Amino acid sequence: MTIDNSYAHHIQRLMVTGNFALLCGVKPEALCDWYLAVYADACEWVELPNTLGMVLHADGGLMGSKPYCASGKYIDKMSDHCRHCRYSPKQVTGPKACPLNSLYWHFLETHRPALNHNPRMKLIYGSLDRMKDEKRTAMREQAEQFLSELSSAPGYGQPTHTAGYYSD
Ligand code: SF4
Repeated sequence: MTIDNSYAHHIQRLMVTGNFALLCGVKPEALCDWYLAVYADACEWVELPNTLGMVLHADGGLMGSKPYCASGKYIDKMSDHCRHCRYSPKQVTGPKACPLNSLYWHFLETHRPALNHNPRMKLIYGSLDRMKDEKRTAMREQAEQFLSELSSAPGYGQPTHTAGYYSD
């Protein structure tokens, strides 16, 4: 949809592409630039606070009281995106597992020090704590393997892109 129409529904931007970026730890300035580049209706004054606050929770929680993170299971429940996917949204580990499942738990483990005391995250951290150690280790390894295979560009951006994001 994005590539054909330079457009996607707000929820697809937030829950699919944005969620993937959140779970993978994409830099806010890189994602802001990507949204500005690919969506015909993106303009800076709307897109920047939404990306920073709603999508990446990178504003310290000013816009949202919790990160908008979601697993593949949740995306499957809320949409029909998974019906023809090569991955299974029900599996968390293994070759057929939806990558968003292990990335989701990996994100929660990684950011536990910052999110643990958030009352809206209590239930989900309770679920994490009830999992067996072997399951948590397998999920962590699956997510780390996936992340290690992503190509990334350290020091993203040309000076003209990043000039607006830093004060020095
Ligand atoms: S199963 Fe496929 S379509 Fe569904 S969330 Fe995972 S990767 Fe996306």
